[in-house]
Amino acid sequence: MQKILNYINGTYCEPKSNEWLDNYNPSEGEIYSTIANSNEKDVEDAYMAAKKAFPAWSNTTIETRSKLLIKIADLIEANLDRLAEAEAKDNGKPFSLAKAVDIPRASANFRFFGNAITQFASESHESIGLNTMNYTLRQPIGVVGCISPWNLPLYLFTWKIAPAIAAGNCVVAKPSEVTPMTAYLLGKILTEAGLPPGVLNIVHGSGASAGQPIVAHQDIKAISFTGGTATGADIARTAAPMFKKLSLELGGKNPNLIFADCDYEKMLAVTVKSSFANQGQICLCGSRIFVEQSIYEQFKKDFIAKVSKLKVGNPFDEATNVGALVSKPHLEKVQSYIKIAEEEGGEILFGGKIVNVEGCENGYYLEPTIIEVNDDKCRVNQEEIFGPVVTIMPFNTEAEAIEMANGVKYGLSATLWTTNLNRTMRLSKKLEAGIVWVNTWLNRDLRTPFGGVKDSGVGREGGFEALKFFTEPKNVCISY
Ligand code: NAD
Repeated sequence: MQKILNYINGTYCEPKSNEWLDNYNPSEGEIYSTIANSNEKDVEDAYMAAKKAFPAWSNTTIETRSKLLIKIADLIEANLDRLAEAEAKDNGKPFSLAKAVDIPRASANFRFFGNAITQFASESHESIGLNTMNYTLRQPIGVVGCISPWNLPLYLFTWKIAPAIAAGNCVVAKPSEVTPMTAYLLGKILTEAGLPPGVLNIVHGSGASAGQPIVAHQDIKAISFTGGTATGADIARTAAPMFKKLSLELGGKNPNLIFADCDYEKMLAVTVKSSFANQGQICLCGSRIFVEQSIYEQFKKDFIAKVSKLKVGNPFDEATNVGALVSKPHLEKVQSYIKIAEEEGGEILFGGKIVNVEGCENGYYLEPTIIEVNDDKCRVNQEEIFGPVVTIMPFNTEAEAIEMANGVKYGLSATLWTTNLNRTMRLSKKLEAGIVWVNTWLNRDLRTPFGGVKDSGVGREGGFEALKFFTEPKNVCISY
């Protein structure tokens, strides 16, 4: 059985812990590889390799760093099919999605930050009349930690690593133990691209065994984390008293506000995607749909009709729109919310049942599920389900819509469907979210700030925000 090994100091190695975890193929429900469950000794090895690499890497010219990142981007692109296949097998997502979105985006992350670092500049401030000049150095932090989740495995892993190394840091990174395969394969690409050993070290294992030692490491000075809100709070409890820099990208329960004056056909097509893409396992999915009363019944009918055409199936079947959920425990969690919805008086308008996919009888498949709720404070409307489950509910006024949209502890993204410009301007300001999409969804320009407010996180990724996070500003004040 294939072993998923750590990648430390430019070579693959077995974990010192000598512990292993099972790796499941969720579309078949079978164990297909075994994952190093690293511990603090492995994290220490990774840290030491990173520390050793840092002086040279942080003094490598920007041009050289840029070229290396772009080379990695090219190699990811050249391995598109292989990586997309590995991602689909490891995660359960449709191969077509991994090929069109996940892997191209992983490549784009390296390309983008390879280019962005050449444009990154620091500020200077002349104190006129005082004969003083200030300039700000933006220096790499040193060794930083990057920890990522399972839903967009290589996409989110590289979204952190690329700016970290572009800015001159060395990294100890941990992908999710639920989906480690493409991060493991990335090691070969890093070596082939000629990234110096130790610049990027990949340690596998569970959060408790491999993640916690990264967060608690005395000399790892910054942590960039994407994952659940409860884990983020745990990480903050350890890292904040150590005065580490922290970027936390956490959970969401994103509202989708649909007004009667929207472009109806476009809204309908995109709402199906924003509800069920990646089996609803995208932190940006619009899981709470609020529809203006005058078009509510029509929307309900048309939405159900469109969703009923989605094909749930084997990720490698070309016709598949909705693949397998990532794991058995996750499937059970999502199912438990469907039960809660019924207990709370919600009506299952569509879906809700396990799907038996021929040839993949042990896989974790669930129908896309639409639940009509009559109270936006019910648990299915307040808690992150993170699966192919959306709720729908009508609203009468703009004020009511905004109150319901903002009436959760999360604030990651919001989607607004309207052609009224004044309403767009008004509501965009009022929505409590880090990202507002108007008449679109998951439309990403990598230069824009990305992140959430409230319990959805602290800090922003993307563009120069990420390069700022991975550098320490130092002001130098010169009197002349
Ligand atoms: P998770 O919090 O369980 O795990 C995320 C990562 O943290 C994994 O690598 C895990 O091993 C590690 N980890 C767990 N406990 C740890 C600890 N104590 N110390 C250090 N590391 C630890 O999240 P998940 O289930 O993998 O991912 C789903 C969650 O991620 C959802 O809540 C989703 O909304 C969120 N998410 C957020 C964004 C965003 O950009 N805001 C993007 C994708 C996913």
